[in-house]
Amino acid sequence: MSNAYEPVIGLEVHAQLRTSTKIFCRCSTRFGGAPNTQICPVCLGLPGALPRMNEEALVMAIRAGVSLHCTVNRRSRFSRKHYFYPDLPKGYQITQYQEPVCSDGHLDVPGADGGARRVRIVRAHLEEDAGKNTHGGGATGTSEVDLNRAGVPLLEIVSAPEITSAAEAAEYLRQLRAVLLFAGVNDGNLEDGSFRCDANVSVRKRGSQTLGTRVEIKNVNSFRFVQRALEWEIAQQIATLMAGGTLKQVTKTWDDVAARCHVLRSKEGSDDYRYFDDPDLGPLCIEAPLFERATASLKPGPAARRQRYVDALGVTAADARVLTEHPLLADYFEALVARSGDAKRAANWLANIVKPDVKFEGLGARFPVEVEALAGLFARLDDGSLSQKLAKDVYALMRETQRSADAILVEKGWRVVTDVAALEAACDAVIAAHPRQAAEFRAGKKGLIGFFVGQVMKATGGQADPKAVDGLLRARLDPASA
Ligand code: ADP
Ligand code: MG
Ligand code: ZN
Repeated sequence: MSNAYEPVIGLEVHAQLRTSTKIFCRCSTRFGGAPNTQICPVCLGLPGALPRMNEEALVMAIRAGVSLHCTVNRRSRFSRKHYFYPDLPKGYQITQYQEPVCSDGHLDVPGADGGARRVRIVRAHLEEDAGKNTHGGGATGTSEVDLNRAGVPLLEIVSAPEITSAAEAAEYLRQLRAVLLFAGVNDGNLEDGSFRCDANVSVRKRGSQTLGTRVEIKNVNSFRFVQRALEWEIAQQIATLMAGGTLKQVTKTWDDVAARCHVLRSKEGSDDYRYFDDPDLGPLCIEAPLFERATASLKPGPAARRQRYVDALGVTAADARVLTEHPLLADYFEALVARSGDAKRAANWLANIVKPDVKFEGLGARFPVEVEALAGLFARLDDGSLSQKLAKDVYALMRETQRSADAILVEKGWRVVTDVAALEAACDAVIAAHPRQAAEFRAGKKGLIGFFVGQVMKATGGQADPKAVDGLLRARLDPASA
């Protein structure tokens, strides 16, 4: 790639809001139902049917807007955007045009160096989804339309054209997905299409302030593919310009098998949508109580939590980034720290060892072992009865059998109490070697028991049962209470 040119990228994301019913009618938004079973006169666009705004969709738009540092406009408006396509029964889509519900926000995109780059969000507006066309299905090879998705609420989030590389675009999308997950408004499922991205990209002479001719790449359904598609398209545009060619404003799709984009259609002259205000819907107003209700339960988002993990808990930037990919992962981490203290270790284990086994499903997640169980394993690391290496083996068995670390240790004989007399001798020796700590313990600093247990574990090469050692030590240090 020539260094004389720089890419400029702007992203439009369509995020499905997690309401149980559609935006202007009471039909279900459930994914995967038999075709055309979740429809009514409103979402079919039958004459005379009147749309009625679903307040939950507005609540979620407010939560998203606040999470993206947008101005949430107390008054916005719906417009009709006209175009002809079989998946659009009314012949127009209800969307927001001149007065969106959210405007002027930003998203901080973490970089590889641990810092972040701020990308402005121009607007986030509410609109209805269209239906879904399937082509050539069935014995007759006809095309079919499923309108279950027609009228499902979407928030379209539009970035400014200021993303500077394909990798940064992919990271922007990961961050945006996380923000929406933390706000509880979107399930971040790219495969089911509840989080969809259109990527706009142009190139210009490095340092120039004017925007070049852009290409729009439609509906790429994985972050990796977005990055590859943009890399390919950027190289293509630069090569064309360097060869003295000119660029056309077109819409493309990414073909991952061929590893290239294909032109879908030319943009020129095709975007007269004849927008006008929808006469069936009044202005969309947000009164203070609704705003309160929408935002009261908002918890800190991924950026704020990441910052706290790094600054207050000493977690590495890389681990903090992984831990804030999903709200339940961050919650799990915080619960683990509360139980086991050592935040760095908890972060390192979660990000590198546990996370690959977590099954994420939308806003839900299934963890291979409970927080409590993992804390139990960490306790054996704390008391010195396990090495880091052995702990990983124990974890693998815990994951498989759902048994506790202690049960596995006993069963495997990885830690055995055999000779009680030898253990007693080891305890006596450790106490004799640390008279100052023994005096402090007796004076009330009971937390020191962990230190003594650790010393005995060390002396016995990790082969003692820390519970038994604990008992023996207490009997010696503090006979009255044992
Ligand atoms: P449209 O009305 O055609 O959708 P917008 O002005 O709303 O166009 O822009 C859509 C998206 O394209 C935005 O994310 C914007 O940042 C991006 N964009 C616009 N022009 C360019 C350009 N020349 N290069 C890269 N991205 C662009
Ligand atoms: Mg657009
Ligand atoms: Zn309906």
